[in-house]
Amino acid sequence: MTDYPTHLAVDEARRQIIDYCVRRQLPAEIVPLQSAHGRILHNDVIATRNLPPFANSAMDGFALHAIDLPATGERRLRIIGTCLAGDPNVVSIEPGECVRITTGAPMPIGADSVVMKERVVDDGDSIVIQTGDKAGAHVRHVGEDIHAGEVVLRHGQRIRATRMGALASIGLAEIEVRARPRVAIFTTGDELVMPGTECARAQIHNSNGFSLAATLKSCGIGSTLLVDAQNGMPFRHLHDDRDLIRVALLDGSETVDVIITSGGVSAGEADYLPGLVAELGRIHFWKVRMRPGMPILFGEIGKAMIFCLPGNPVSTIATFLYLVRPALAALQGADETAPPLQHARLVTEIKKGHDRTEFLRAACELRQDGTLWVAPMKAQGSAMLSGLIDADSLIVVPEEIRYIAAGDVVQILRFPDVS
Ligand code: AMP
Ligand code: MG
Repeated sequence: MTDYPTHLAVDEARRQIIDYCVRRQLPAEIVPLQSAHGRILHNDVIATRNLPPFANSAMDGFALHAIDLPATGERRLRIIGTCLAGDPNVVSIEPGECVRITTGAPMPIGADSVVMKERVVDDGDSIVIQTGDKAGAHVRHVGEDIHAGEVVLRHGQRIRATRMGALASIGLAEIEVRARPRVAIFTTGDELVMPGTECARAQIHNSNGFSLAATLKSCGIGSTLLVDAQNGMPFRHLHDDRDLIRVALLDGSETVDVIITSGGVSAGEADYLPGLVAELGRIHFWKVRMRPGMPILFGEIGKAMIFCLPGNPVSTIATFLYLVRPALAALQGADETAPPLQHARLVTEIKKGHDRTEFLRAACELRQDGTLWVAPMKAQGSAMLSGLIDADSLIVVPEEIRYIAAGDVVQILRFPDVS
């Protein structure tokens, strides 16, 4: 008898993980703006000033009164000065006059229009304007981009690279964000050796340590990954030794918020993780109706939560992307925790002979007509790394579906460093 649920549907498993993480959100911390990229905002960000803060020119050209724009023929205006971007001097003009102005320079008092440099004849003292320029053109007005008092970004939103500029432009040097989870990756298995070491009989190279660490980095968890003091790797490898794993889990549970293990979570003789999590902490669930990845276990040890991912390389990545990555986002208070599913049309049909959710390695292609197509890779074995080389996504085939025809729309989950 077990005192935890088993064989959960994949979305139920994710729901339970998210519920748990939302109750354990990490505290807020203040970081300098330059370190805020990828972090989750703790508070709404409110603009304290208008953007632009002053009316300014959108072009290099001449600032003038709209009434001086000729309806027919041409008109000569006297150049009475120059406004360069950053120049604090206040300039004013009367009708019949203009000012040479650069992009971003404050509009002179009286001027309400800018004519582009390329559209006038300039003899140094005066310009000649033809017809065809619009009154009010090429002026950026106070607050037309962002109003003082406006909510620029909301708590829970991720600070994407393209949002950094908005935060800087309203003058914030420090941002209040959620702490990032500290994460330890433990790979397990007596058969594994590090790349750079020759494999003896029955040995293979440890690949999950590298793929997991890289995937975590592309999810913004790079600098909080525990580094193995012995070899500087962003993961620690453990032999299939119950006591060794036991000590590593206990140590890890005191140092990090999230422990991620790979391997040793099925029913093999050397699969110690389920027994150890039950002994040292609590299992929340074990086994999810997904393929690959069925043996995944979610539990806790002390203050840390633990995800035990199956060792087959594709299982490790699929379980990480669908179940662990949302947990990392939820711990940081992110408003987007669901896996970022997209839709695409299927290039070749899919047949499925089981009732678990299937995650197929696949490659996307955006066609010229604007439609996204996705083709399953040929190598679909859960141990087959070759199926991941050209893949950029997983096709998610729901439990109840047994067949999908070519041309039908399916859901896909893009790999993080592709999307
Ligand atoms: P396990 O989940 O420990 O039963 O491992 C399942 C399969 O995944 C076995 O064929 C292992 O050799 C392989 N495997 C486990 N961990 C890794 C790893 N870190 N890198 C590459 N393959 C692994
Ligand atoms: Mg193993």
